[in-house]
Amino acid sequence: MVDFVPQVALQGFNTLALPARAEYFCTAASIDELHKALDFARQRALDVTVLGGGSNIIFAGDVAGLVIRLAISGIAKVGEEDEEGERVLVRVGAGENWHQLVLHCLHQQWYGLENLSLIPGCAGAAPIQNIGAYGVELAQRFVSLEAIDLDSGNIITLDRAACRFGYRDSVFKHELRGRVAITSITLALSRRAEPQLDYPELRNALSDIPQPTPLQVSATVCALRRAKLPDPVERPNAGSFFKNPVIPVSQAQQLKASHPDLPLYPVSEQATKIPAAWLIDRAGWKGVRRGPVGVHDRQALVLVHFGGGSGAELLQLAADIADDVARRFGVTLELEPAVIGGASAAGEGHSLVGRGQPDAGSGL
Ligand SMILES: Cc1cc2nc3c(=O)[nH]c(=O)nc-3n(C[C@H](O)[C@H](O)[C@H](O)COP(=O)(O)OP(=O)(O)OC[C@H]3O[C@@H](n4cnc5c(N)ncnc54)[C@H](O)[C@@H]3O)c2cc1C
Repeated sequence: MVDFVPQVALQGFNTLALPARAEYFCTAASIDELHKALDFARQRALDVTVLGGGSNIIFAGDVAGLVIRLAISGIAKVGEEDEEGERVLVRVGAGENWHQLVLHCLHQQWYGLENLSLIPGCAGAAPIQNIGAYGVELAQRFVSLEAIDLDSGNIITLDRAACRFGYRDSVFKHELRGRVAITSITLALSRRAEPQLDYPELRNALSDIPQPTPLQVSATVCALRRAKLPDPVERPNAGSFFKNPVIPVSQAQQLKASHPDLPLYPVSEQATKIPAAWLIDRAGWKGVRRGPVGVHDRQALVLVHFGGGSGAELLQLAADIADDVARRFGVTLELEPAVIGGASAAGEGHSLVGRGQPDAGSGL
C-alpha cells in the first residue's frame, strides 16, 4: 500500500534542513511499490524526483510532481567471485543506510568499504556521484546495479563500465540524469583484510599501529571525519559543497608559482586536482556568515544553514564564492550536490510525459 500525500514539507528529508514542499510525496519500500508510484505519476503527468537520505541535495524551492523516497532494504551475499571464495558479492537494497552497510560488512568480515565509513545517505545514491573518501571510491568495489527506467518501467542492469564512473561523477549525472531509480547495487568485497592507507592523513593517524585491522581503519576514518566535518544534525549541511577542481597541469604550475603553499594532486599527465577548500579559504570566505547561511569556520568546503534560511540564499552565497574564486584564481568551482526544486524543477525532476532537462545543478 503506497500513500501519496499532497503538499509534504521536505525540511526533515534533507540534511541542509532547507524548507520546500513536494507537490506529492510517497515512500517506496519495494520494486512493486515503486511501479505503483510510477503509475500514479504517469496517470497524472507528474514529474518524478527520486530521494535517498537527502544528504547531497539543495532544495532551491518547492518540488513539482511526485517525490519518491526509496526505502528498499536488504543486504545479501549473492555469490563468490573466485573459487577460493575470497571475494564475496554482496547485493544491497537502495534504501539501506550507507554507514550501517559498512558496519554490517565489517561484522561479516567482508572488507573493502572501511575507508568509506560514516558517509551519510543511502546505498542507492552511492553510484550517482561515485562516493569516495580517504583514498577509496565506490567504483573500486562496484560490480553492477539494478534500476528501473522511469519512462518504460523496465528493469535495467548496468555494470561498472556502463556507469562510467569518474571523480564524483557517473552516467547518472549525464545521459541518465533523472531517468532511472536505482533499486539495488552489487559490490565485490574481500574476506582478506587489505587496508588501503594511501591517503596521507589516514596513514599518519594509524602510524602507531603496524598492521591496522579493517575495524581500526573504520574507527580512525570515523574519528577523522568527526573532528573536521560538522554533524548535519547539529549544524545542517550537505558535506562538500563544491567539487575539487581538476585543471590543466600548466595552469596548476602557474598557480603554484604565485601560491607556493597550494597543494597539488596529480590526476594524469595532463591534469591536476587542487583543493576547493584551499581556494575558498584563501579567498577569505572561511567562517563568513550571511544571515541564516554561511561557510563553516573549520572546513571552508562546507556551507551551513543556521536555520530560517532558504535554498536561494544558500545558492546565492555559493555563486558569490564561485565568482570570487574565479576572479582571484581563474578556476571554476562546480557544485557537488544536486539542485532540486524551485526554478530548477524542470531540470531535476523527470517528466514521464516529456523531456527537457537543462544541466541544472552541475555548475553555478
Ligand atoms: C556531512 C556530510 C559528509 C559527506 N561526505 C561525503 C564524502 O566523504 N564523500 C562523498 O562522496 N560524499 C559525501 N557526502 C555526500 C553524500 O553523503 C553522498 O553523495 C551520498 O551518496 C548521498 O546519498 P543520499 O541517499 O543522501 O542521496 P540524496 O541526497 O537523497 O540524493 C542525491 C542525488 O541522487 C539522486 N538519487 C538518490 N537516490 C537515488 C536512487 N536510488 N536512484 C536514482 N537516483 C537517486 C537524487 O535524486 C539526487 O539527485 C557527504 C554529505 C554530508 C552531509
